[in-house]
Amino acid sequence: MVTGSKSFHLPESKLHYAPPREFRTLHRKIELSLDFQKKSISGSCTLDIEPIRRGLREVHIDGCELDVRACTVDGVKTDFEYDNAVLSVPLPDRAGPRSIRVDYSAAPKEGLHFTGPDAEHPEKEVQAWTHSEPESARFWFPCHDHPSDKSSSEMLIRVPKGFRVISNGRLVSEREEGEGTVFHWREDTPHSSYLTSFVAGRFSEITQEVHGLKLHYNFPESKRADVLRYFGETPRIIEVLEELTGMNYPYEKYDQTTVYDFMAGGEENLNATTLSMNYYPEAGAEADFQPMYSNPFSSAVILVAHEAAHQWYGDWVTCSDWCHAWINEAWATYLESLYTERTRGADQMRWGMRAREVDYFEEDETRYRRPIVDRNYVWPHDVFDLTTYRKGASMIHELRYIMGDDAFFQGVAEFLKRHAKACADTDDMRKAMEAVSGLQLQEFFEQAFLRPGYPEFQVEYTWDDATKTATLRVRQEQSSSDGTPIFKLPCDIVFYVGGARKKFRAMLDSAEQSLVFSLDAKPSVVEFDPERWLLKKLKFEKTFDLLENQLAQSHDAWSRAEAATALGRAASERAIPALRSAASKEQFWDVRACALLSLGEIGTDAALGALLEVGVPSERRVRRALAKALGNFKDEKARKLLVGFLESDESPYVRCEAALSLGKSWPEGALPYLKKGIGVHSPNETLAEACLEAMGKLKDEEVKEIVDASLAYGKPTRMRVGALKAIRARGRIADDELPLLKDMLLRDKEYRVRLYLISPLLRELADGRFTDTLAKVSWSDRNAGVRREALEVFHGLSRQADQMAAITGLRAEVEGLKEENRRLLRTVV
Ligand SMILES: [Zn+2]
Repeated sequence: MVTGSKSFHLPESKLHYAPPREFRTLHRKIELSLDFQKKSISGSCTLDIEPIRRGLREVHIDGCELDVRACTVDGVKTDFEYDNAVLSVPLPDRAGPRSIRVDYSAAPKEGLHFTGPDAEHPEKEVQAWTHSEPESARFWFPCHDHPSDKSSSEMLIRVPKGFRVISNGRLVSEREEGEGTVFHWREDTPHSSYLTSFVAGRFSEITQEVHGLKLHYNFPESKRADVLRYFGETPRIIEVLEELTGMNYPYEKYDQTTVYDFMAGGEENLNATTLSMNYYPEAGAEADFQPMYSNPFSSAVILVAHEAAHQWYGDWVTCSDWCHAWINEAWATYLESLYTERTRGADQMRWGMRAREVDYFEEDETRYRRPIVDRNYVWPHDVFDLTTYRKGASMIHELRYIMGDDAFFQGVAEFLKRHAKACADTDDMRKAMEAVSGLQLQEFFEQAFLRPGYPEFQVEYTWDDATKTATLRVRQEQSSSDGTPIFKLPCDIVFYVGGARKKFRAMLDSAEQSLVFSLDAKPSVVEFDPERWLLKKLKFEKTFDLLENQLAQSHDAWSRAEAATALGRAASERAIPALRSAASKEQFWDVRACALLSLGEIGTDAALGALLEVGVPSERRVRRALAKALGNFKDEKARKLLVGFLESDESPYVRCEAALSLGKSWPEGALPYLKKGIGVHSPNETLAEACLEAMGKLKDEEVKEIVDASLAYGKPTRMRVGALKAIRARGRIADDELPLLKDMLLRDKEYRVRLYLISPLLRELADGRFTDTLAKVSWSDRNAGVRREALEVFHGLSRQADQMAAITGLRAEVEGLKEENRRLLRTVV
């Protein structure tokens, strides 16, 4: 199995420091005509700048693959030099601001994207949209393309009649000019180049308001019925974010626009967020909506909350360099969790934090481990990973625990005040948090943001009846070979004694330590961090009685859910009554779900009997757990229930789970049901995806044909990903699939398909047949995430080949490819 590079630092990585700042940009004015046919732009960009260094005689401006026609300084035409990446412009010898105008055209490869219908997707509309983070603005306008340079901006975009343009700030004018219309937008709040954006297309609009602030939702008319299911919570989101940040929304409007083929969930362009079309919940699916079944906490509300949160954290205050991207991304991720806490309660929030951490742990185990702040990367986009987003959010959660809510939320506001309309780094965050709390946070910040990993605790509990003391022996078992430290963290230890909950806060700071607590009597429940403040892995073996009491008595839903899971892991029939009771009576849905899953884990006839006795839960997410649990039984009754779910459950995600369970538990008979399931419409065709994934385990000859046919461009994206999942489940790539898969790697129009194909599929299944193609993708793909994953898998393969080279004499060939890759990457970087 190929596991990629296993190191964040690749041979092509290098330390990245912010580039020198020769000037401050005061204002950017971009005037462009769009040619949708040629997918090109033509016009000018005027930068009003103020040199930082006195006597500056030449400025260097980022601009990638532009066709520069002319350049003027303060209205006077000037010579310039341009090497396709940097424009060098001489400055006249005088002090004060200058105005540099560049006339250019371009067919941008990055940053600005043209999209529209083709033979396979006639439903798509002609659109153009920008997505410049982190450093792709330079592909469509010349600028100092780094987050530290903030300025006001102006955008004059000429489009065909009938099109609209949405951009940052206020619409100054909309005037007809010949065959087209020119939209003139202006934004006075200083912002980084990557947050400067426009979107052009035939958009309809619905507006809402929150205390006088206009919220615009822009969408293709075909989506009208679903728009408020996507964006309808925005007014509440803005209100809650204002409370959380202690600061009113700072701009004059908020636009949210959905576009085809967007290469992310959303992008937080200053007060003009652009979002994916994949998040429209259909009627009937909103109660448990998620764009794909395999991503349980992802939803339209979470996405909208995340991008809205960026308007404060990311846009109002921006990371000063990409290695501090957590200032943007971890905060937006944590604020989306805080929104959940305020509107859906702490239990739901903790559940979501755990779901996010599961993904981070997967990155940690299958790709690499790195500190959150890390300058050593290939491309700046590399740091936009789960370490930044998810581990970062968990570190902010720990910070809140250490500071307490009052000081923490004061700090949230203080940081925004101190660095208003400017940039900030990790140290600035620490200082703001120290200023409001009086705490010394250097040690915590170093551990959380500059060191990799997380604690892996092993806890043993003993009770001494003679002395009435409880002892917890806590070991930190993580390996330190990669720089992961022994963590110093406070941790809640909770005992239930005679019906009372006793909470102690212990300080964990050693590889091994014993914590001793005097109690009035033997506790019925013993808990370690039951409110779930710490990012950690935990092994805490408990007796059956302790677990049963924890499930029945703990005040914390997360702890009850853990008890339910641990009871299932023990796979003892003794646990069945307690689990059955929790599955039907428990208040929080996830505890009911965990109890059902544990009954599935136990897997005996009696456990199945208990599952059937509980009956079909009315809550969709719990029903989903039932469908998953039933997959552990080879039993006629279980099968019948699953077929019923697959064919007629009101929730598409319960149907997905039933499909997966049928594939697992009934490999000899599931195929006809799964085939039928592929043809049943669901949001984003996620049911087809699940049915195909389920087929991967089946031995039927017909399966390969169905899978290969489902890979074709033109089939729904999630169906194509489902076919790749089936190949992954099969564990082998057939020779006759090679040409198609290689072609997909190099040319497929859908980045989500390319991405899944590389990781996890090729990360697990690639062999020498893919080395050259992956090398090519790693320097040529338009999507930075795809390039990065391809490069990691390429190095994994090279390492394997190195090991084989001694025997087969492949070394020269491999070295040649590596060298070629390095050379090409150098030119791209
Ligand atoms: Zn974000």
